[in-house]
Amino acid sequence: MIVAMKPQATEEQIRAVCKKSEAMGLRAHLIYGVERTVVALTGIPGQLDPEDFESLPGVAEAIPITKPYKLASRETKTEDSLIQVGLPDNPVTIGGPELVVIAGPCAIESREQAFAAAASVRKSGARLFRGGAFKPRTSPYTFQGLGKEALEILAQVRQEFGMAIVTETIDPENCALVEEYTDILQVGARNMQNFSLLKRVGRSSRPVLLKRGISATLEEFLMAAEYIMAEGNYNVILCERGVRTFADHTRNTLDLSLIPAVKRRSHLPILVDPSHGTGKREKVIPLARAAIAVGADGLIIEVHPQPELALSDGFQSLHPDEFESLMEQITAIAGVVGRTTVRSAPSPSGTIRE
Ligand code: PEP
Ligand code: MN
Repeated sequence: MIVAMKPQATEEQIRAVCKKSEAMGLRAHLIYGVERTVVALTGIPGQLDPEDFESLPGVAEAIPITKPYKLASRETKTEDSLIQVGLPDNPVTIGGPELVVIAGPCAIESREQAFAAAASVRKSGARLFRGGAFKPRTSPYTFQGLGKEALEILAQVRQEFGMAIVTETIDPENCALVEEYTDILQVGARNMQNFSLLKRVGRSSRPVLLKRGISATLEEFLMAAEYIMAEGNYNVILCERGVRTFADHTRNTLDLSLIPAVKRRSHLPILVDPSHGTGKREKVIPLARAAIAVGADGLIIEVHPQPELALSDGFQSLHPDEFESLMEQITAIAGVVGRTTVRSAPSPSGTIRE
């Protein structure tokens, strides 16, 4: 249930709604929108009577939410969520008019590799830097990441290039360490239903980049986001990265139909990862173009200074000059769909953003 407050409702009246719901064993989440403040109630699934809240001063109406995901639902919040990240002198908003591109290698391999990748992707217009420190690999015998050493290199990249960092946390025990270094906590596809990890990142002050599980339905994906939000962390960024199908011309099948479906059902921003989504370098740029055309809020792209030598995911990593071309192409498409990139000329008119 959500309790929508009247526009002129006072803080005290909002607090009274929270107090009442907490006395009923519920958790109250305050959602400040442009037009109205909403108190979203989560907790027990039992029947609630709207009357219990509509009789309180300052309340406009109490509305049951039909979807199983409550906080992630557009029914609860009609406006798009904007997630603020970045560094104080280089702020970035995910979910606004600017398409945000996160780029960097699959894994941090050395300081030289990370710095070369950061210098090139920054020059081409990436706003955040990615790089794995702890790698959840299919085989226990392949490169598992440099761990803490990689986190320290990421901290140097942040300092040197002024870019915010995105890196993955692989379990609840590892989260405190990753949290110290990263600006956005990534939860990988294989962990999308690791509920103890979801709850842990839900208690973090860092925004979370949540990747879709390899066979997750839209509802399962949004329920995973709900786990994070139910703990009080509302800064969730979704990411489509392909699902497992019978197709063997591609590593995964990038499900771009998910983007408009998410936009309809949820206020959360969604990025697309055409690197893991295809697993093949030559498919990354075409699907990045398509992702922007279909309404994604940005991209996450693997770029390596020498993909042939990469310790993981070299086949799908772009060369720096290919990433430059990707940025150029998506900047052109951005203008058509009413979005911008850092490389755009001043904002175009005649938008078709939904
Ligand atoms: C990654 O982004 O490095 C990664 C491992 O992705 P996914 O969890 O989508 O496989
Ligand atoms: Mn990878």
